[in-house]
Amino acid sequence: MRVIADSDRCIGAGQCVLTAPGLFDQDEDGLVVLLTDTVATEADTKLAEEAAHLCPAAALRVTPATDDAEGQPGA
Ligand code: SF4
Repeated sequence: MRVIADSDRCIGAGQCVLTAPGLFDQDEDGLVVLLTDTVATEADTKLAEEAAHLCPAAALRVTPATDDAEGQPGA
């Protein structure tokens, strides 16, 4: 699966880092930083989906790995 973070939407709430510290970090302004853009294991996929669900700014998306960087379905 692919994880997409929209830093323009991110408000720096940090829920993603608290939920999945192995996948997300925050920069000096508190905005989300992806530690990886692909999640290979079911456990990491669940954590990424939980983080996306909890994000108050709806800044995270988890999509199939075949989708492009904007989450649009691949060919
Ligand atoms: S939970 Fe959402 S708003 Fe908060 S830091 Fe992560 S991406 Fe940004």
